[in-house]
Amino acid sequence: MENKTIDAEALAKELMLDKKNGFFRVDDEEIARADAFCEDYKKFLDNGKTEREATSEAIRLAEEKGFVPYDAAASYKPGDKVYVNNRGKSVMLAVIGEKGSREGVRIAAAHIDCPRIDLKPIPLYETTDFAMLKTHYYGGIKKYQWTATPLAMHGRIIRRDGEKIDVCIGEEPGDPQFCITDLLPHLSQEQASKTLGKAIEGEDLNILFGSRPVRSEKGDNLFKLNVMKLLNEKYGIVEQDLITAEIEFVPAHKAVDVGLDRSMIGAYGHDDRVCAYPALQAVLNCCEIPEQTVITVLTDKEETGSDGNTGLNSSYMRYFIHALAKQDGVDGHDVLSKSTCLSADVAAAYDPTYASAYEANNTCYLNKGVGVIKYTGSRGKGGTSDASAEFMGQVRDLLEDANILWQTGELGRVDLGGGGTVAQYIANLNVDVVDVGVPVLSMHAPFEVVAKLDVYMAYRAFKAFFDQKK
Ligand code: MN
Ligand code: MN
Repeated sequence: MENKTIDAEALAKELMLDKKNGFFRVDDEEIARADAFCEDYKKFLDNGKTEREATSEAIRLAEEKGFVPYDAAASYKPGDKVYVNNRGKSVMLAVIGEKGSREGVRIAAAHIDCPRIDLKPIPLYETTDFAMLKTHYYGGIKKYQWTATPLAMHGRIIRRDGEKIDVCIGEEPGDPQFCITDLLPHLSQEQASKTLGKAIEGEDLNILFGSRPVRSEKGDNLFKLNVMKLLNEKYGIVEQDLITAEIEFVPAHKAVDVGLDRSMIGAYGHDDRVCAYPALQAVLNCCEIPEQTVITVLTDKEETGSDGNTGLNSSYMRYFIHALAKQDGVDGHDVLSKSTCLSADVAAAYDPTYASAYEANNTCYLNKGVGVIKYTGSRGKGGTSDASAEFMGQVRDLLEDANILWQTGELGRVDLGGGGTVAQYIANLNVDVVDVGVPVLSMHAPFEVVAKLDVYMAYRAFKAFFDQKK
């Protein structure tokens, strides 16, 4: 009897998952479109380094496209474009669909807050002829990464006379910048013997703010007084105004291309503006009249657990959807129960230098497209919403039908650590949700890296989701 042979290459093509680098699965025109999209993304990064600035920038871009502030008392028709500015720190942008909200809405939700160094309420102090600032870091950082790197000062101060002062120092050429000092290696024997998490403590993250006093024969704290005098001259503020303020120190560098081939972008705050910007562009450029009302939510507070009235564990998005439902004469709970959401947040990209932190088969990679992450969480999937097989199937169909490069993965090796996104808070409203986002190297570092092709695929994914006719 003759042995039966088969064409294994052809069979594999038919049966096996294609994990090739995305470059080989798109043409040069698609690469050029990705590169062009990312030029504007880099501008968005530089113009919006804080949640407030990103909100303002998103609203500016939306108004250019005809979006107007939402009015709960008004009536809207299909194709109308509205936005809700939530306290200047989060924003929802919607295009009213043919069917309105009656059969549910489609949501893309990303966060625009990033890990950073916040000032304490009484930050200013003087020691050994330096004016310094006490800080309290925001979000999950590796503290040593934030020393000896140039920082810029951003934020808002509310003055006693009610004036709102926006602060931005260190971004324009010629501006002074700031830093947190570190110990010289020559004297670091003790520091170097500590664990990485203990070598720099939270109370060591003090910002160098000045080193010249006011010229006076009398008085104390002349160094502190001098910087306060300079702040007063620039902003008209007194020390008490720093209590009614939100001042954030962020890396001073701008977004740049990374790699000799310019295939990647290095910047502060890719997590999660690398999903926020594509989700924003998707709603700004969605088809004229989507089937269902589509909403991009750019939220705050994700990095500290989504609590607070600008975070997605609050009810602000639910209230908006209830208002849309009311205008359509339907019940808000019914609308939510029929709604779907792409939770747009970054994925941990495989890093060959730290290969053991990942399980190579189930990890997202740079340049393999947008990541679709079924679940996050930690210790046996704790704290995750875990998308259903059915909703995963819907999202796969959407991406495959539109020829969008996508991949899947987990957040690192099982039991090594973990994390979450806003997905669970939206899922808890009885919405079908899955995490869809861009893989990032050096996540939460002052300089994070993404691949341009993946950023563009995220945009195409959110746009296809909004444009989809069922
Ligand atoms: Mn994130
Ligand atoms: Mn994060």
